Amino acid sequence: MKKTYTRKIDDLMPVELDFHVFGEGAPRVFFTGGIHGGEATGIYVVEKVLAFLEEHELLKGSVKVLPRSNPAAFRRLQRSSPYDELDLNRIFPGQDDSAPSLALAKLLWQEAQDADYIVDMHCCGVWGASYTLAVYNDYDYAKELAAMLAIPRVIESGGTKGQLFVEAGDSGIPAVIIELPGGGQGGVIDLDAAEECYQALLNMLRQLGMLAGEAVKPHPTFYGKLQPVMSKVVGPFLPQIKPGDAFKQGDVLGHVGETAIVAPITGVATMVRPACYVFKGTPLANVAPLV
Ligand SMILES: [Zn+2]
Repeated sequence: MKKTYTRKIDDLMPVELDFHVFGEGAPRVFFTGGIHGGEATGIYVVEKVLAFLEEHELLKGSVKVLPRSNPAAFRRLQRSSPYDELDLNRIFPGQDDSAPSLALAKLLWQEAQDADYIVDMHCCGVWGASYTLAVYNDYDYAKELAAMLAIPRVIESGGTKGQLFVEAGDSGIPAVIIELPGGGQGGVIDLDAAEECYQALLNMLRQLGMLAGEAVKPHPTFYGKLQPVMSKVVGPFLPQIKPGDAFKQGDVLGHVGETAIVAPITGVATMVRPACYVFKGTPLANVAPLV
């Protein structure tokens, strides 16, 4: 069974959102992409899941799919809405009769209320590696959802208010973000990361008994909060690690000129800048500690 409906934000240039709901009843899963309009790998993954569900019956429960949650920002492949310059993922639960992005946040918040699980797809830039972002120390149900996803790394969220997954988590709904390489200028799609995430979402549905096929239990590694590694000198940065690599405290991550960049922690890199000229304060990598 499939239901499709369109909801609209009325403004000078109306915004229309096409929701696709497959099956009915619990468990209710909500997959969203494109809350940040330029984060193309996430949008692409949710569209792949939509195409899959068009062809396959659910065994139980329902999946609501919204690949393009922020159509105006998508049209410009940018993070914020061109209508009001607001970052949609900082203003949940939103507000009626207000700026278009606030009204959109309110509409999405309403659509999220009956969800038992929310997985919100994003991009961490073209120099990134995939990770699940979860408020897993505060909420066991967010940790359980993160552990269901076959994304190799789980990073602890700082819990910045106004984000859909944070606000949903605070109101008792298991919710996480998956950050995927891609996005950036021009809306790059990382096809390998998209395939891994697509399979992870289908495997999640299998673990919930919603889809036919064998469910595999993932074993992601849990890390603490992200921190940047900044250059303290000027020169060419030559990295020795790749996004997604793990390392020990004191390992050399690369060089800026003659200066070795040493790992401040034992952990993993979710972003590593490619070889390029850097200056004092340029972020070279984002790293998270093993917990
Ligand atoms: Zn994002």
